[in-house]
Amino acid sequence: MSEAPDLDLIREALSTSTLSHALKLIGDRWTMQILMAAFLGVKRFDDFQTRLAIPRRTLSDRLKSLVHMDMLRPRLYQERPERYAYHLTAKGMALYEATLMTWDWEHRFGENRVALPDRLVHRTCGHAFVPQLTCEACGETVTMRDLDFSLKPNPRLPHDTGEAMRTPKVTVNDGAMSHLALRLDRWSLMIVSAAVLGCRHFDQIAHVLRISPPLLSRRLAAMVEAGLLSVEPDREDGRRRIYLLTAASRALFPYIVLVSTWAAEHHFHEQSSIRPRHRACGKPFMPRATCGHCHQRLRAWDVRFETGGPV
Ligand SMILES: [Zn+2]
Ligand SMILES: [Zn+2]
Repeated sequence: MSEAPDLDLIREALSTSTLSHALKLIGDRWTMQILMAAFLGVKRFDDFQTRLAIPRRTLSDRLKSLVHMDMLRPRLYQERPERYAYHLTAKGMALYEATLMTWDWEHRFGENRVALPDRLVHRTCGHAFVPQLTCEACGETVTMRDLDFSLKPNPRLPHDTGEAMRTPKVTVNDGAMSHLALRLDRWSLMIVSAAVLGCRHFDQIAHVLRISPPLLSRRLAAMVEAGLLSVEPDREDGRRRIYLLTAASRALFPYIVLVSTWAAEHHFHEQSSIRPRHRACGKPFMPRATCGHCHQRLRAWDVRFETGGPV
């Protein structure tokens, strides 16, 4: 069907990709939820805590690291006792488009058990909308199938070593949280990325991600269970199975490419090792999230979140 992927090159590109590093910085489930809440206007420690039901110490740790990464800035709003509000910085704001995509994903594929607003309204045009992934160069809506990827490992980006890639345990009893955790989890997103780059067999994925077979096996089973992958016998070799992306995991692509671009532009100031090109216009693909109604780029605070009532 497709030619054999160059596994060593894919491995090198993935391990030096801005995506891989960005997911280490912001890819844990709490950090993403804190950012989502921040985009909904939550600022105070206690409000984050109540909204997310997050252990206080975990919240404090994650806020500290978001401040350290210059994504949130603390401001004292009460002296006795000392209380801080956390405001998004320009760098934190720049992750807005990616975060909108996770909202969209949740509405289409999630279990709707996570407290998210029902719909987004674009203040600029006044319409309820769905965010779309768009090519900045030509303005067309894009899916991953419209892109080609060239792999050019960037030596100025840090290199992953195998042992740094640990994974939190995903427990089955975690309900909605485990689904959220699973799809925003670094490993899941890296497995989806490996599949986007053409890896379909167990041994290919294990090789390019340097993931141990028992760990990969558990993770793939959880992803199949969650509808993020489907598995089929390989028609060319009946002893092997192939893992395929589903509609749900393909819909993670806008998030993946926006996070990767965010990290390249705002954190590392370096090009990623994985460079998408929009086949139709021939330009390097610069992803933007646009309003599905008026097609303008979505900026934070141009979007209103609404809950309840008919859509
Ligand atoms: Zn284009
Ligand atoms: Zn609009």
